[in-house]
Amino acid sequence: MITLHGKSVFGDICIGDIVFYKRKERVIKRYRVEDTDAEINRFQAAKSEGVIQLQALYEKALQDVGEANAAIFEIHQMMLEDLDYHESIINIITSQQVNVEYAIGVTADNFSAMFSAMDDAYMQGRAADVKDVSERLLTILDGTDTSNTDLNKSKSLDNPYILASDDLVPSETVQLDKSKVLGFIMQKGSANSHTSILARSMGIPAIVALGDELKPDYDGITAIVDGFTGTVYIDPDSKTLEIMKQKQAEAGEKKELLKQLKGKESITLNGQKIKIYANIGNTSDVGTVLSNDAEGIGLFRSEFLYLENNDFPTEEQQFLAYKQVAENMAARKVIIRTLDIGADKQADYFNLDKEENPALGYRAIRICLMQPDIFKTQLRALYRAAIYGNISIMFPMIISVQEIVKIKEIVKEVKAELTAEGIPFKDNVETGIMIETPAAALVSEDLAKEVDFFSVGTNDLTQYTLAIDRQNQKLDPFYQPHHKAILKLIKMAADSAHAEGKWIGICGELGADTSLTEEFLRMGIDELSVSPSMVLEVRKKVRETDLSK
Ligand code: PEP
Ligand code: MG
Repeated sequence: MITLHGKSVFGDICIGDIVFYKRKERVIKRYRVEDTDAEINRFQAAKSEGVIQLQALYEKALQDVGEANAAIFEIHQMMLEDLDYHESIINIITSQQVNVEYAIGVTADNFSAMFSAMDDAYMQGRAADVKDVSERLLTILDGTDTSNTDLNKSKSLDNPYILASDDLVPSETVQLDKSKVLGFIMQKGSANSHTSILARSMGIPAIVALGDELKPDYDGITAIVDGFTGTVYIDPDSKTLEIMKQKQAEAGEKKELLKQLKGKESITLNGQKIKIYANIGNTSDVGTVLSNDAEGIGLFRSEFLYLENNDFPTEEQQFLAYKQVAENMAARKVIIRTLDIGADKQADYFNLDKEENPALGYRAIRICLMQPDIFKTQLRALYRAAIYGNISIMFPMIISVQEIVKIKEIVKEVKAELTAEGIPFKDNVETGIMIETPAAALVSEDLAKEVDFFSVGTNDLTQYTLAIDRQNQKLDPFYQPHHKAILKLIKMAADSAHAEGKWIGICGELGADTSLTEEFLRMGIDELSVSPSMVLEVRKKVRETDLSK
């Protein structure tokens, strides 16, 4: 048995086999060839095999996820057979007398740069596709097995498993078949990364920062993940297995006890009420929101709809997703945050430039204000879906009143366009902003005049206030989520909101920190939005708190 220690993200226990996800990093060599015809033949053979693979994928996807989602494999087939793409590869082979792999690599780079530079958002999205198709050819040419680089296609994944990796980015995380993942264990990663947030929202044990001791060789080996202590037992001995099964059963009993709080009010012993909502990233999360009896959804991270897609989600796709959540939640409030892409949340088809400081860069509302077409599509979907339930809209990464003024102008245009087109929408939708920059907290008295509510994003507020990159695990020793500066900024925002008769919630991870629940209640925070799996735990804490003492 090998015992590893890391940083716990969510406290629970799971037992299962490890699947180690290895990301492939390809190095393409360039070498001279004498027989260019032989290289061209290799290309033609790889292409034929690629077409067969894509056809099989198309047919499988058609059955599994429907025609609209399967269409991507048809597009890839078309690309593979595109004449310009062929000519480029063959020209490079013959004119430079080089190997086919190099010719494919250069062609992929050139074509994706060309697509990226186009004005049309749809064509920009093709940049990622041409890379994908080229990657398929290269994989066929070098005969590498891609089964463990594509989690959902791997044959070993019929049974639930423990996912191990160096780290995962959000675009990889969203592709997981979540019903199969028992727990996450990562070599790197920080407790505040979006993958960690996802693990918390799934309510599964997760441990990050385990280091290189977590070896790819452990693929297929049984392990126990103890998310309470941040410990992983690889190939556990029978005694450990017994102890851990006992601990797992006790944790299960505790969860059962918490269930008794379903249907109960979130009210302190001295009668102060607070709303406890849940955070989601996907329409399919609504089930856990309801089963944990959250009183609403305090943060729907809409960017996950974008991350799941290979291209910009259409207005209709978004409308249906928002409508579904609103209807499933019936009269309960659903706060949908507009697109918060950028920084660690990257989708290839946005073609965002590489930045020196992405967290301080082109992200969230900045993208929406600079690329209003993207923003307007989402706003149209939101205002249309608002007819079907109790939807509120929230804007991320706000730093000034000017941004809100600009947002209001765009909203006005969207409403005018919908009216002119005779498309029904709800006119009067509650709108709020995230307080997740120190600037927003400091000017919150002005911002409160402009919006209906605030929601504090403590993950980013902490990152920007303490100047600590939330993704950088090396900085964990300096990470102080209870730092007085952060609590002061939250209090300032709360006072500003209340002075204007507005309400304020907390939707960052700190909202679920029960050691701060009393302090938040004393500040008069009106709502806490937490992972669905934490709703009842926080309700328990609220019901045990007496503010009269
Ligand atoms: C936050 O920053 O606290 C937040 C809730 O948003 P996200 O974690 O998605 O950045
Ligand atoms: Mg944030």
